Amino acid sequence: MNQPISLRELDEIGVDRLQGVGEQRRASLEEVSIFSVFDLVTHYPRRYIDRSHEAKLGDVQPGQTVMVVGEVDAVSSRRTRNRKSIVEASVADDTGSLKLVFFNQAWRSKQLDQGLTVALFGKVDNYRGNLQMTNPLVDLVGDRTGRIVAIYPQSGKAGLTTWDLSRWISEGLRRSQSRSIEDPLPHELLGEIGLVSRMQAFKAIHQPDLMSEVLDGRDRLVFDELLRVQLVLRMRKIQRLERALGVAHETDGHLLVEFLEGLPFDLTAAQRRTMDEISTDLKSDQPMHRLLQGDVGSGKTLVAMFAMLVAVSDGHQGALMAPTEVLAEQHYLNLLRLAQNLEVPDPSTLDGKRPVSVKLLTNAVSGEDRRRLLRGMADGSVDLVVGTQALIQDGVDFGSLSVVVVDEQHRFGVEQRSALREQGRTDGRWPHLLVMTATPIPRTAAMTVYGDLDVSVLDELPPGRSPIATSWISQSLEEVWLHLNSEVANGRQAYVVCPLIEDSEKLVASSAEKTQLELKNGPLSGVNVGLLHGRLSSDEKQSIMDDFRNGAIDVLVATTVIEVGVDVPNATTMVILSADRFGIAQLHQLRGRVGRGINESKCFLVTEGEISDDAKARLAALEESTDGFVLAERDLELRGEGTIFEQKQSGRNDLKLASLARDRIWVERAREIAAQLVDEKGRLGRYPLLDDEVQWFIDRRDDEAENLLRS
Ligand code: ADP
Ligand code: MG
Repeated sequence: MNQPISLRELDEIGVDRLQGVGEQRRASLEEVSIFSVFDLVTHYPRRYIDRSHEAKLGDVQPGQTVMVVGEVDAVSSRRTRNRKSIVEASVADDTGSLKLVFFNQAWRSKQLDQGLTVALFGKVDNYRGNLQMTNPLVDLVGDRTGRIVAIYPQSGKAGLTTWDLSRWISEGLRRSQSRSIEDPLPHELLGEIGLVSRMQAFKAIHQPDLMSEVLDGRDRLVFDELLRVQLVLRMRKIQRLERALGVAHETDGHLLVEFLEGLPFDLTAAQRRTMDEISTDLKSDQPMHRLLQGDVGSGKTLVAMFAMLVAVSDGHQGALMAPTEVLAEQHYLNLLRLAQNLEVPDPSTLDGKRPVSVKLLTNAVSGEDRRRLLRGMADGSVDLVVGTQALIQDGVDFGSLSVVVVDEQHRFGVEQRSALREQGRTDGRWPHLLVMTATPIPRTAAMTVYGDLDVSVLDELPPGRSPIATSWISQSLEEVWLHLNSEVANGRQAYVVCPLIEDSEKLVASSAEKTQLELKNGPLSGVNVGLLHGRLSSDEKQSIMDDFRNGAIDVLVATTVIEVGVDVPNATTMVILSADRFGIAQLHQLRGRVGRGINESKCFLVTEGEISDDAKARLAALEESTDGFVLAERDLELRGEGTIFEQKQSGRNDLKLASLARDRIWVERAREIAAQLVDEKGRLGRYPLLDDEVQWFIDRRDDEAENLLRS
């Protein structure tokens, strides 16, 4: 029992083992995803109150901005004549008192209980001879003493206060201390990197004596989080290379020559380089595992087609999986066009050849059509299949799938990627995998999320693209509608994207309908205005996209269903309503729907009323740059993790403390160290404690991913 306690063990101890945690508290903690003592001690403070900076009320002068700590002694709330809420309270310490006024924060009357100790930050005014703070920042100190008080993210809904959490965390740490929390990293290594021990780090972050200790503790815990992720990626990569066998292709078949020679344009240098990298991978019997990163419009589809044609040219099949039906259909049409004059050998026909066969499989394909398609895929007469997740359902088999392309993989889980791999073959070999993403990923993020993939980058747009002039419109929309009308009069087309509304598809659809009506009956009355949203049936969506493509619809009012992949070069104007509700990455994707032809394109980012400073910074970034990588870095700066992590992804709680923007250096460091620790078999045999921790971490992640899939 004198062994130090491991994280795995801490995770096996339920919170109900702590004092004062009964059935009800346990349920409340579960509501905020705290099940075990491990969850509790990794529930990190949101900030700290340093009471050495505390002012005494007796010393405070009007006009000063200060932090004071006092006890609440009266609270009242009322409404003004125009129904605004006002909460007033008074607070006292042993030297004086202070009045608090909160406008439009009715909930404060519930938060501020009489007798509660609170810390207040704000500017002190003189109101009729009394000290007063208006809308101060409030932190609940509760009954805690000590120079530095950690403030935890608390949950009013679950009835958990910051001092409840703090008490249980202290107890958890105190009871671990006799055995100490195990440190799986070799001592010398810690010294070399300059990190404190794990026990010290937990103490420092939760119960610091000095603010400088918090930083040391944080560094250690951040490093641990990042190292676990890097170790998993590294081990996986080496083990995959050890074990898996792919199909070695010939890459000089004449199908490929015909394909490349038949293109109406020259490849960009980036496309050529990327195709070379892919060819090299596909020639080898080690399965490719490559990320193709390229900004919108950089020509990824062509590269994907090339990879799949290598398979077809060598007598195998290719598949492309997309996240939405609209995008799958779009890819399908593109591939059909690219495959137009291509033929493969077929001894059963008179001239010994047949056209390359490209098919679409979504849930909308049903009945006899579906059965015929599935037969063709299984007997190999279908060469290329584009589809949604329908591709990975039971009953879908391939004759010999050897190249898989997954578009926008951040919307898929890792599990779904491998499902398509396993389904594709019966001989135990793995299809080669190419993951395409149009979301430019900053280097640090790429190292973390896609760390086990090789990377090709299309960092060059095809020539002849017109730049997209972007402007933020916050006043009158007249200019926007004038521009749209004149573009339509010149035979061009446009998109109007409707605001995001919470998570409700239904509300989004109805707001899009309303927008369409308003435009039709108002500023765009002479124009054919179509409507596309996620609640339409696949047939309806398809027919609307067809009408837009062939010009029967001039202006398409749409929700973000058009975010990815839609390619209509004649569309030259993008109007995004309530643009402040979108993130940088999403605005960039949406804007990328225009500027695809030779005509000048414009993008209008429309906002109404006051918007936040963050939103202003995002819109300014879009106005200034059309370079996806520049924008991605800016996004990372502005919001920490960047939009890519918003998507459902297994292991999304891997990083509780680390921030990819703030902790870049630690990402790189963790990657280097992971490379040192993992052996050539992809194992951690020399470090059994670390090995056990990583194993536990993987199990935990899998459970989490399973929960996600079930919910
Ligand atoms: P992405 O998928 O990267 O956004 P696409 O593959 O859809 O980009 O390509 C955008 C458009 O550019 C398509 O219409 C495509 O035909 C065209 N295109 C691709 N490569 C080139 C090239 N090398 N030169 C000219 N046009 C190209
Ligand atoms: Mg595309």
